[in-house]
Amino acid sequence: MTTTETSLRALYEDFHRHPETGFREHRTTTVVAGLLRERGLHVTTSEQVTGVVATLRNGEGPVVALRADLDALPLAEETGLPYASTAAEPAMHACGHDVHITALIGTIDELLATRAQWSGTVVAIFQPAEELGSGARALAASGIFADHPTPQIVLGHHTTNTLEPRHVGSRGGVLQAAADTWEITLRGPGGHAAAPHKTVDLVVLAASTILKLQTIVSRELPPNQPAVLTVGSIHAGTVGNIIPDTLTFTVNARSFTEEVRTAIAAAVRRIVLAEAAAAGLESEPRIDHVVEFPLNVNDPAAYEVVSAALSAEFGAVTEVEPVTGSEDFGEFGTHFGVPSVFWFFGGGLAPAVAELSPTPNGHSPRYAPDPDIAIETGVRGLTAVTRHVLAVWPRP
Ligand SMILES: [Zn+2]
Ligand SMILES: [Zn+2]
Repeated sequence: MTTTETSLRALYEDFHRHPETGFREHRTTTVVAGLLRERGLHVTTSEQVTGVVATLRNGEGPVVALRADLDALPLAEETGLPYASTAAEPAMHACGHDVHITALIGTIDELLATRAQWSGTVVAIFQPAEELGSGARALAASGIFADHPTPQIVLGHHTTNTLEPRHVGSRGGVLQAAADTWEITLRGPGGHAAAPHKTVDLVVLAASTILKLQTIVSRELPPNQPAVLTVGSIHAGTVGNIIPDTLTFTVNARSFTEEVRTAIAAAVRRIVLAEAAAAGLESEPRIDHVVEFPLNVNDPAAYEVVSAALSAEFGAVTEVEPVTGSEDFGEFGTHFGVPSVFWFFGGGLAPAVAELSPTPNGHSPRYAPDPDIAIETGVRGLTAVTRHVLAVWPRP
């Protein structure tokens, strides 16, 4: 291992030990900003939101943005790793975002070490709160990008153990589903379980509504348009002899086109309101759109350029199916009005958890990538793609 690799590993372990959940990445923001300032980049942070944006200028050429995400998940880590989370409240880098932070810093180091061999501008984006679906949007809305050149393309990647270690996978077009969550609140006259005729029974109303919601995908959408709808939580009542006066439930839907997404949103609203009216509920249900992940779409032409670079570096790119898991990376392409490309890379599993059964995946308290494989593969992919795009992308 070279000195740089050794220090990247130490950096990764430090991020892993100190995870912070969405919009609370204060320490991570400070550490990342400090590391980038030490390296001579133009670095800005925002008063309004966590996250860091840094620009590396190296002569004439295209402007390429590279994105990493800073946030951890509210989980108590169970990996038993020597560098496991030390957070006081449950927090863990269970999605591998600590790999992404480290790999982006490692990529900047590679680009700095080889700056005679490329020219152009690299904008490094370290965004908050990816897991909440709103971090990219919040960072863009903070105005932080006013202080940096506008990129012509945005690149991002994610470690996974569903690909073989040191392999990469992606596809042109839609890569990841859009995801929406609505919180529905029903309020009505509750009362005694022995006198339901003097109430509107919200439990019966919710039961009917939830069954009807399940007909959106099965009966309303064209059979060749995939979508998923799940009611993931429902809360009401305290004891058996009271009809509750408040009930909440959450609806989560994932879709692969804007048309399907819009159709589902309209159908959820129509069904919730109509079922409430049918039950004789006087107060209109409240429908809050609480989580909103955009589609993650790889621009087909840009994808050709990126996959050529990945193929040259790794020998091949595995063509993956569109995945129902979501990412808010697509916000950046939309914000700048430019193409974006995202890929997955095989970061393996840390030896301490690799033999566990069932095999832990991302978002499990027992998941951890193999740090050396993940960092190395992340840096290789991001560096190779950046160098290639800087060489071939049309200049502004
Ligand atoms: Zn995640
Ligand atoms: Zn993630």
